[in-house]
Amino acid sequence: MNLYRDEGIVLRTQKLGEADRIVTVLTKRTGKVRGVAKGVRRTMSRFGARLEPFTHVDVQFHTGRSLDVVTQVETLRPYGEALVSDYPRYTAGTAMLETADRLVMGEKEPALRQFLLLVGGLRTLADRGHEARLVLDAYFLRSLAVAGYAPALDSCARCSTPAIRAFAIAAGGVVCGGCRPPGAAVPAAETIGLMIALTRGDWASADASEQRHRAECSGLVAAYLQWHLEHGIRSLRHVERV
Ligand SMILES: [Zn+2]
Repeated sequence: MNLYRDEGIVLRTQKLGEADRIVTVLTKRTGKVRGVAKGVRRTMSRFGARLEPFTHVDVQFHTGRSLDVVTQVETLRPYGEALVSDYPRYTAGTAMLETADRLVMGEKEPALRQFLLLVGGLRTLADRGHEARLVLDAYFLRSLAVAGYAPALDSCARCSTPAIRAFAIAAGGVVCGGCRPPGAAVPAAETIGLMIALTRGDWASADASEQRHRAECSGLVAAYLQWHLEHGIRSLRHVERV
């Protein structure tokens, strides 16, 4: 296979030499691909701005010995344009790209569900129908679930009793009074309800939630995500706290 074509979201780019870039793309069928875009930093580059982070592209690669080489790119939807003018949406989108890059660890291992979650998350952010932080938390909860790290939300993570009392990150989600480790957070029932709504895509409930429960939800989800990803998600520092 010398040439292959796929659609994908550009996750990040790094400079390579004087004029080239390494682009990391989460593709629909091939999984995560790191490829070289030659001459992309020249003003007259035939790739133009199509290989910028957030862009949903149709891309053709030539298989190389170490890194594959980008030979053609077309823009399917430039999500970056919709996000760059809105700081909360832009920072939420940046945290999504970084999380997708971290959760999809291997290269060229198909990760269709992670790709679809990322495209759906960026589209929902760009459409501006829901608060950016809710969209981000929904994306975090679902992408963690796909990666095998779904938090327990409706019964104790340790003994499965439905009588929940607290949220314990290291235990794997909500816990009952008997299993509650020292120092576990005791969130409002509405906050756990919001986490369940975001996981299920129940936007009617999520949009009706109160700000204090959204703030508590964001804090727990961020802490849970950081605990599961070694070194954490750097771009979360820039996401505005509600
Ligand atoms: Zn328990």
